[in-house]
Amino acid sequence: MKNRYSLIVLVASLGVMSCQEKVPADVVGTMDATVKDSVIVYEEYMGEEPTTPEGTEFYEPKVPVVKPGFIGKAPSDAIVLFDGTSLDNWISTNDSTAAKWHLNKDGSMTVNDKTGNIQTKQNFGDMQLHIEWKSPLPVQRENQNRANSGVFLNGIYEVQILDQNDNPTYVNGQVASIYKQHVPLAMASVPTGDWNTYDIIYHAPEFNKDGGKIKSGDITVIHNGVLVQDHVEIKGTTPYVGWPKNPAHGKGPLMLQDHGDDSGVSFRNIWIREL
Ligand code: MG
Repeated sequence: MKNRYSLIVLVASLGVMSCQEKVPADVVGTMDATVKDSVIVYEEYMGEEPTTPEGTEFYEPKVPVVKPGFIGKAPSDAIVLFDGTSLDNWISTNDSTAAKWHLNKDGSMTVNDKTGNIQTKQNFGDMQLHIEWKSPLPVQRENQNRANSGVFLNGIYEVQILDQNDNPTYVNGQVASIYKQHVPLAMASVPTGDWNTYDIIYHAPEFNKDGGKIKSGDITVIHNGVLVQDHVEIKGTTPYVGWPKNPAHGKGPLMLQDHGDDSGVSFRNIWIREL
């Protein structure tokens, strides 16, 4: 509601400044919108209204055909980052050498404790990400030390992974939180030892030539089919200590966390569609 209120205030302010003025697309959501007397109007719907069905139908641009994945497989246009056969697409974050995590016979990989985070060789910006993860059995430890890992978008924005079952912790650091920024809308984990899915939509922030942030990024997370982060604003990096920071950046790697406390978290079926 706060964002909607802000939009209304902004639009109203723009309307006061000028009776009819073109406004940025990200304010009104379309390139063809104008603010007139404080109200959003759509230029494409001005003029004489069509009186036939064909008058409001169009055939361009062509929509690409994508064969969906189903049953754990990537869609036809996805970049497959891990299919269970090798860690070739990944390197150690510490020293850029080959990733040292365990490759398992069941098509998954598991954090190799204290060898450090791993990240993709390839860099990404806006993306749709699918990743599956599993907390180990038997359960060990509690709070933030129970199967803690994380998916770091652009290498710096963490979507938390944690075994949350019967394991309370601070809510802005629980499973599917944007770490220490956004509490998830629900706790949607499967039982410990079963595979979870994250489907994540990420839009990167934008920076001007002086390094100042001019547009925030955003994250949407669907956890096991449940919307848990709804297009939330990225306020900056997601540090354990201190405030979020906003270093200017371009594309970056996808990074997975070794929390350094024998988390035993496993991953499988990781793919990205660039947006
Ligand atoms: Mg973590």
